[in-house]
Amino acid sequence: MSIEPNTPLIDRFGRVHTSLRISVTDRCNIRCFYCMPLENARFKPRDELLTFEEMTRVVRVAAGHGISKLRLTGGEPLVRSNLSQLIQMLKAVPGIQEIALTTNGILLPDQAADLKSAGLDRLNISLDALSEELFERITRRQGVQKVLDGIAAAKSVGFENVRLNAVAIQNLTECEIVPLANFARENDLHLRFIEFMPLDADRAWDKSQVLSGRQLREMIAQEVAPLHDLDREDKSQPAVDYEYADGRQRVGFINSVTEPFCGTCNRLRITAEGQLRNCLFGSEEWDARQVLRTGGTDADLSARLHSCVQAKKPSHGMDSPEFVPPERAMYQIGG
Ligand code: SAM
Ligand code: SF4
Repeated sequence: MSIEPNTPLIDRFGRVHTSLRISVTDRCNIRCFYCMPLENARFKPRDELLTFEEMTRVVRVAAGHGISKLRLTGGEPLVRSNLSQLIQMLKAVPGIQEIALTTNGILLPDQAADLKSAGLDRLNISLDALSEELFERITRRQGVQKVLDGIAAAKSVGFENVRLNAVAIQNLTECEIVPLANFARENDLHLRFIEFMPLDADRAWDKSQVLSGRQLREMIAQEVAPLHDLDREDKSQPAVDYEYADGRQRVGFINSVTEPFCGTCNRLRITAEGQLRNCLFGSEEWDARQVLRTGGTDADLSARLHSCVQAKKPSHGMDSPEFVPPERAMYQIGG
């Protein structure tokens, strides 16, 4: 396939892709049950992971086709050494307007200042439970205080509009919903609940474990404060956000399972070892690393990007009887 320079990444359904999520590692310092196995996680050998130079080259080519927003993720992105150096390199790519990072927050006290000075624009910090006991059941590690310290560190170095991500799980995290909502309001954090998706390494996901965005919204409106609808400024955002009636912060719901938002999806992904993906739930990958490591040209990379976009399906198909979860778990794809 020969692609003209600057051709936008538009798929067969007219979706224009402007956002790339880059997994910088598949390793992690905790073991959330909805993502990783407790033991024997199958990490890629280090020499298979893309180098910072390789990631930057992919981003430069992708930016030429209209990618303007990046999100660094993993695994836990802060366990990759010298991440701030990568942020500086990506920040210098023409066309890149925003770099965000999703982290479990544990290493933020050490790294927040460097990330800020490297030019990181936005931070999402994941925290599903404020109680240490439940945090430990979910992550199979201790660490609530470390995450709280991470949140404080992020704010103290000047990150604004920090978001808190919380996966909500039926029969497990109900008791955390209201405390998390209150905590977010008290600390001026924009909380977003994520429905539990079938991406756990143990493949134990069951629909009955999904605490839906609707249930959560009702619980919060009753027990925290009434909620007002908001106009969706950016339709490609996966969350449906509401404002508390007293004007004190917003709360959002990422209803990937019960109300999929595939119709406005504008994202591509690249795994830590350089496989392009057009959907979290896809089974196909396009090998960018092979192009990078066998003397391929930028035009070859453009062709891989465009093939990946052209093959994108209209939706993740989770509701279909033929749906099978992807072979790779969340930590191996990049959330
Ligand atoms: N380690 C970082 C973190 O946890 O924030 C970044 C990677 S993690 C895979 C990205 C996000 O995906 C986190 O907010 C995490 O809670 C969420 N996540 C992981 N597995 C999930 C699942 N099976 N369903 C829904 N969200 C999930
Ligand atoms: Fe690690 Fe994030 Fe997966 Fe939890 S969700 S195991 S923090 S990569």
